[in-house]
Amino acid sequence: MPEIETETIVMEHPQIFVERTLAVIKPDAVDKSDEIEEIILRSGFTILQKRRVHLTPEQTSDFYAEHYGKMFFPSLVAYMSSGPIMALVLARENAIAYWRELVGPTNTLKARETHPDSIRALYGTDDQRNAVHGSDTFSSAEREIRFLFPDSIVEPIPAGQAAKDYLSKVVNPTLLKGLTELCKQKPEDPITWLADWLIGHNPNKPRINEPYAVEEPN
Ligand code: GDP
Ligand code: MG
Repeated sequence: MPEIETETIVMEHPQIFVERTLAVIKPDAVDKSDEIEEIILRSGFTILQKRRVHLTPEQTSDFYAEHYGKMFFPSLVAYMSSGPIMALVLARENAIAYWRELVGPTNTLKARETHPDSIRALYGTDDQRNAVHGSDTFSSAEREIRFLFPDSIVEPIPAGQAAKDYLSKVVNPTLLKGLTELCKQKPEDPITWLADWLIGHNPNKPRINEPYAVEEPN
């Protein structure tokens, strides 16, 4: 029986945690949003949320609070509030690091020398107008996503171990059984099969109440 083998394969790949990051297409590149979104999708990201906004200088100052006091801060605020931006919540494995990699170095001119295929090399203008933004850590991703999508995210984004612990508790026990069964059966449409299996084996499914007594007409 191949049962044990299948079980092992599934258990070795329990990395189901999907990381999120914030991408911003800055005012100078917002006209190229479609092209940049295509690159994003081709790179294996899912775009979870998208919003075109025009931030005020005050909002921009809050967003970039970490740079307050730096020489370039006033012109950064003027630039980022000069027109609409496109904010995107991106998801994939290693989203934060991978998006930063795709974006390239901060200074467009350096990016053109060292990372000619990066988004900043392709769409940026100079050391400030560099086409796109990417969160640099878990905590900045969480803060920046909340900042630009205040209504849609209520819970903090679980990061690292917290996310793994959460998934281990509420999803993995059921999901791993489903994946094991999926590997055994190899159905033609594995995604739909798994979705159906999960619905059928949902440990949280509401109990079916006794049907209400039908009142007899008088
Ligand atoms: P990032 O994380 O690569 O975006 O870079 P930083 O967080 O250090 O800076 C935020 C943004 O400020 C950059 O994306 C640039 O638009 C701008 N910026 C950073 N450094 C400079 C600089 O030395 N001069 C100017 N004019 N702008 C800068
Ligand atoms: Mg930064």
